[in-house]
Amino acid sequence: MNRTALRSGLLAATVSLAGAAPAVAAGPQSLPQQPVAYGTGGGAATMSPYATASAIDVLKQGGNAVDAAVAAAATLGVSEPFVAGPGGGGYFVYYRAKDRKVFTIDGRETAPAGAKPDMFLGPDGKPVDFEQAVESGVSVGVPGNVATWGAALKRFGRKPLASVLKPAIKVARTGFELDTALSGAIESNRAKLARFPASKRLFLLPDGQTPRPGHLLKNPDLATTYEQLGRRGTRWFYTGPIGAAIARTVQHPPATPGTGAAAGGTMTARDLASYRALVQDPVTWTYGGYRMYGMAPSSSGGATVAEAMNILQGFDQTGDRTDALYRYLEASKLAFADRGQYLADTKYVSVPLSGLISPAFGAQRAALIGPRAAATPVAPGDPRPFGGGAATRALTGDTSDHEQHTNHLVVADDGGNVVSYTNTIEQIAGSGITVAGRGFLLNNELTDFNFPVGTANSVAPGKRPRSSMSPTIVTKNGRAIEAIGSPGGSTIITTVLQTLLNQIDFGMSLPEAIEAPRASQRNAARTDAEARFINAYGKALEARGEAFNPTDYIGIAAGLSFLPGDRLQTATEAWRGGGGSAMVVTPENPDPTKGVGALSR
Ligand code: GLU
Repeated sequence: MNRTALRSGLLAATVSLAGAAPAVAAGPQSLPQQPVAYGTGGGAATMSPYATASAIDVLKQGGNAVDAAVAAAATLGVSEPFVAGPGGGGYFVYYRAKDRKVFTIDGRETAPAGAKPDMFLGPDGKPVDFEQAVESGVSVGVPGNVATWGAALKRFGRKPLASVLKPAIKVARTGFELDTALSGAIESNRAKLARFPASKRLFLLPDGQTPRPGHLLKNPDLATTYEQLGRRGTRWFYTGPIGAAIARTVQHPPATPGTGAAAGGTMTARDLASYRALVQDPVTWTYGGYRMYGMAPSSSGGATVAEAMNILQGFDQTGDRTDALYRYLEASKLAFADRGQYLADTKYVSVPLSGLISPAFGAQRAALIGPRAAATPVAPGDPRPFGGGAATRALTGDTSDHEQHTNHLVVADDGGNVVSYTNTIEQIAGSGITVAGRGFLLNNELTDFNFPVGTANSVAPGKRPRSSMSPTIVTKNGRAIEAIGSPGGSTIITTVLQTLLNQIDFGMSLPEAIEAPRASQRNAARTDAEARFINAYGKALEARGEAFNPTDYIGIAAGLSFLPGDRLQTATEAWRGGGGSAMVVTPENPDPTKGVGALSR
């Protein structure tokens, strides 16, 4: 059953998950969910109808896209607590209409000052077990989301923090209906949650069982945290008692007796106090007549999407579909080889960024695409002659999984300002550790470092682990016309790439491009692919040496595009991940432009 059916078909049973009585009494909240919306006045798309509704509320009250994006992100901390919230980090891309400029905020988690290069190696010098690393204080990075919200509102917002947090506080106090996806995620992470008493209290029933779909989840602790943040500001999160509580919890994760001690990390109150979200330049490139903007490192997202598009630039991708998809897979393979070798936190590693995203380097890499699939792993190229940087040691092969651990949201306001914001707590439910009395889970983002020492993406104090998050904004003649992004670990990059290519080269509309079957080639022997992709193209591509690894689904994209007549379309998944939620301020139905794409050649 999908989320829509659940939300409309079941009555909620009341379960107060955090124990305390809610200050605001209200009936169960249930919101309808639709994957595509069309109309005027601005709009939003997220994984959760509660978060999308928060963004729309703020837009209706005169907030701009930045205010609404912060409102949605804070609400996702309530309604999608396993992939969002104050305990995580992410990347915020903002197009400001008045001067047609794009800004980005790197709100990635950082390693504490006490982090050791070998902290993910066992006594034998070998990498420790991944799960063991996840469920510990060692994996927790200094969270960046709250600082991102603060920086975004201060530089670009219209409304005070207290006002944009109101919708999230309401959902946290009055509760929301647990859907199949979240109930399932609690069930599959039950042992992890039960291990940490504050997580057990927040997410499991008093008898330790999983609350079923339809139960009303409340999080009064998070409501209080947001109220305090509204009064005291985002810096206080890092310098006050919450920061101190985070450091204490990371150093000594309280474990339920009998579940085994969880290792502590080194994070101190000083690490929290010195955290800053970084307002920095985007990575920018062109494809098919459009200028695109994405995240520079510490994310590998922008540079890798850019390189793959530069590789494809010289081919006619609008012709034979099998040829085009073959080249899409090969281009992605080559770009991932370079990602693995070069991309990491630029404060620690000399990254040849301008070389990696230069069309000339892309052309050099494109020459390697022959009639048959290249054997994997393909070797990285040398972008340094095209733009600086230094050689580093690479890990061959792909290090990230492809589960859906993150969230992406997009918002546009009626002034044409646009936000594309991806954020996460890394694995589902992050480290599993909730900060007692504060209502949010701590991330395990530091497991995004390569565990072996001496690579570009190895651990160092204060360093940000390499991400794949790829929030993207597309412009034409200086005006933003699309925003897109997705969760999915390293498949984020290919999902964003494929969704854009589907529109620009294959002429699909945004909803069609999101719905189309996906495949993700990341310099591995087999390409992860959805069944519909394999059914449609598998045979023809196998004849050219490609091999596939069937997977349920890849990515949970969310996007928006501006259509002719000042109309706006917001779109997310119809079914992947249980479906997402798209809304606009003033809907128009039916959509007369269905099938008409904003991006085409
Ligand atoms: N931590 C991952 C990254 O930054 C995202 C988590 C996921 O989507 O699985 O790339």
